[in-house]
Amino acid sequence: MLKYSDLKQLLKKHQLRVTDCRLDVLSLFQASEHALTSRFLEHELTAYDRVTLYRTLNSFIESGLLHKIPDDSGMARYGVCDHHCDSEEHRHDHLHFKCDACGHVDCLSSYHVPKVQIPGFLIKEANMILNGLCQSCNS
Ligand SMILES: [Zn+2]
Ligand SMILES: [Zn+2]
Ligand SMILES: [Zn+2]
Repeated sequence: MLKYSDLKQLLKKHQLRVTDCRLDVLSLFQASEHALTSRFLEHELTAYDRVTLYRTLNSFIESGLLHKIPDDSGMARYGVCDHHCDSEEHRHDHLHFKCDACGHVDCLSSYHVPKVQIPGFLIKEANMILNGLCQSCNS
């Protein structure tokens, strides 16, 4: 787990001012193996109101620290970006996995969405969510 000084460093690297809320949100993400929902953050970080948390999440998305994971349940989930993401470029061609048993959503960073070319179409983004049983539920 990252120390506060590392978290501060990470915020600075992404041109974000250091605030308590940003540090707390970032440390929850760094400590979690799974994608987190805004509801989870609201539950864990009761010291901040909803608006502050949303602003914090948005600033992280804009600056390349987090990405939003599409989910058919309508609950917004956020995953930690790879180190190559920044405000200029976000690349998320990795797969996501949703476990039917524990409900966790994970970024499968080393597995990529297969490239598809369709004549006449300009494809800007591809998302793929797999579901089934995650490693711990399957063992
Ligand atoms: Zn990203
Ligand atoms: Zn599971
Ligand atoms: Zn992801």
